[in-house]
Amino acid sequence: MAAYEYETHDYDVVVVGAGGAGLRATLGMAEQGLRTACVTKVFPTRSHTVAAQGGIAASLGNMGDDHWQWHMFDTVKGSDWLGDTDAMEYLAREAPKAVYELEHYGVPFSRTEDGKIYQRPFGGHTTQFGDGPPVQRTCAAADRTGHAILHTLYGQSLKEKAEFYIEYFAIDLMMGDDGACTGVLCWKLDDGTMHLFNAKTVVLATGGYGRAYFSATSAHTCTGDGGGMVARAGLPLQDMEFVQFHPTGIFGAGCLITEGARGEGGYLTNAEGERFMERYAPNYKDLAPRDYVSRCMTMEIREGRGVGPGKDHIHLNLSHLPPEALHLRLPGISESARIFAGVDVTKEPIPVLPTVHYNMGGIPTNYWGEVLNPTKEDPHAVVPGLMAVGEAGCASVHGANRLGSNSLIDLVVFGRAAGIRAGKVIDRNSAVPQSSKAEVEKALERFDGLRHAEGAVPTADLRLEMQRTMQEDAAVFRTSASLAQGVEKMTEVASKLDDLHVTDRSLIWNSDLMETLELTNLMPNALATIFSAEARKESRGAHAHEDFPERDDANWRMHTIARAQGNRINAVHINLSYRPVIEAPLTSEAEGGISPEKIAPKERTF
Ligand SMILES: Cc1cc2nc3c(=O)[nH]c(=O)nc-3n(C[C@H](O)[C@H](O)[C@H](O)COP(=O)(O)OP(=O)(O)OC[C@H]3O[C@@H](n4cnc5c(N)ncnc54)[C@H](O)[C@@H]3O)c2cc1C
Repeated sequence: MAAYEYETHDYDVVVVGAGGAGLRATLGMAEQGLRTACVTKVFPTRSHTVAAQGGIAASLGNMGDDHWQWHMFDTVKGSDWLGDTDAMEYLAREAPKAVYELEHYGVPFSRTEDGKIYQRPFGGHTTQFGDGPPVQRTCAAADRTGHAILHTLYGQSLKEKAEFYIEYFAIDLMMGDDGACTGVLCWKLDDGTMHLFNAKTVVLATGGYGRAYFSATSAHTCTGDGGGMVARAGLPLQDMEFVQFHPTGIFGAGCLITEGARGEGGYLTNAEGERFMERYAPNYKDLAPRDYVSRCMTMEIREGRGVGPGKDHIHLNLSHLPPEALHLRLPGISESARIFAGVDVTKEPIPVLPTVHYNMGGIPTNYWGEVLNPTKEDPHAVVPGLMAVGEAGCASVHGANRLGSNSLIDLVVFGRAAGIRAGKVIDRNSAVPQSSKAEVEKALERFDGLRHAEGAVPTADLRLEMQRTMQEDAAVFRTSASLAQGVEKMTEVASKLDDLHVTDRSLIWNSDLMETLELTNLMPNALATIFSAEARKESRGAHAHEDFPERDDANWRMHTIARAQGNRINAVHINLSYRPVIEAPLTSEAEGGISPEKIAPKERTF
């Protein structure tokens, strides 16, 4: 192996990732007076959060009655009863506080006539524990909410003197003999130097792994690096079979048209011009939750009622909306439709198709963001020194299906919670743990092996093979046959990581090597997804299994825990176990909490 020198940095906390979750955690840690570094592979405001359009859910009640318990109920039902109840309560209860904090930090929310934060309807958000009409709960800054949040949080973090290491790529976690995380090794992309960050706590905020699929709304940087690092450290991933398909990705291009478009009055039609959602979901129509709308669209297409020459997509209609409303509330998507579909939304419908959008699964945590390594004896055992927040984590508040606008609120509520927790448990006066030489060497060896990989398969080719397999075999609808085939094919695809070919051997701006590292991170995420899906013999949320069409609470109301088996370079098999869902809320009814009857499992209808 080539010799690598590295510079060492010591911090109380190192946050990996500068999206909404990473920045909120960074800001929270810095506010607590912890010496905090934030490491990110892209410039903070280029993180995928910048693309979030529709908004952020909180029961402010600015545009009609609302209550945190209604938000909690909708989240529980949306999760198809797979979310952890304590975490879902925490999310719904803390949401208004977290949004007002954003407002005070300076997020330029859209406003109502009387100056309050503007809120729009979103799928699955209702009143009266699902018995009332849809609610306007999603706080928005036009259709650029994520953009507004990122810029504000970055500015605030700088003000609090958090230190940023921008365009540093985290390669691997450093683990101690006692199982605690002691830091992370990073590669500085613009000059090729190596950096060891030692920390009392590492926070993974690396986002989702949408790019494991061929067609996704997520940025090319969404490669599940946190999940990859965790898998290589021998730690588990949770509920990876639950992958959200957003109903309205632009047909062909995959870019997102926000659910806010339907929230503002848009609707879907089939080849007969029928508003078919009225047939499937008489109450909530086009604002039923995403998993359900995506399945209805797929059924329309399968039954020959798709639009276009190939009868292979669906229309989203906005042209009946007043042009001023489109201009004021949905300017960004009007532009996306023009650029990516060649459509003028004031005159024509937008061609759309369900597209991979969000990963409900991720690194298991409790509602403080502390990473779990569940064992039979202790299903809630915590990994010392390691936290995960945002889409990379799984708290789990989204269970089997996430409601629209519940991710942005998850980022800030749990980013904030991680800061509060760290402020309590980290001893500011203790010495920063020093990562072992052996751990550094192990990570460098993997890096160097990939840098000099001389096999037969170029990274881009293997990535495409993985993406096509996942797209085909872990789709909106799944069968025993498609999943068994997926496991077999993905096992073979993953084994080809040993035969990669990297052309560029340099260390400076080597995108070939960076994409190779990313592929080694995508792969365990993809493998865990297909193995977990194959094993789950029921239908729940986003996991629609045609051979097991019913939800089976008696046998399957539990979290899948997936562990990669292999060496530090490659994983080729996934071992599965299960962890019970946390059913108890944080507070009892007597203390003002939700009544357990309200959130008891029942059939999910719309
Ligand atoms: C197009 C689109 C629109 C959406 N709209 C909404 C919406 O309106 N409302 C809503 O609630 N949700 C929405 N979502 C979902 C939501 O935006 C995401 O789930 C959320 O932004 C993820 O945030 P994050 O902070 O977890 O990760 P990201 O924003 O993806 O950030 C990840 C960070 O990790 C860093 N990173 C990753 N790997 C490494 C590494 N190896 N080394 C160093 N740094 C690394 C990156 O540089 C980046 O800073 C949308 C998603 C998409 C794709």
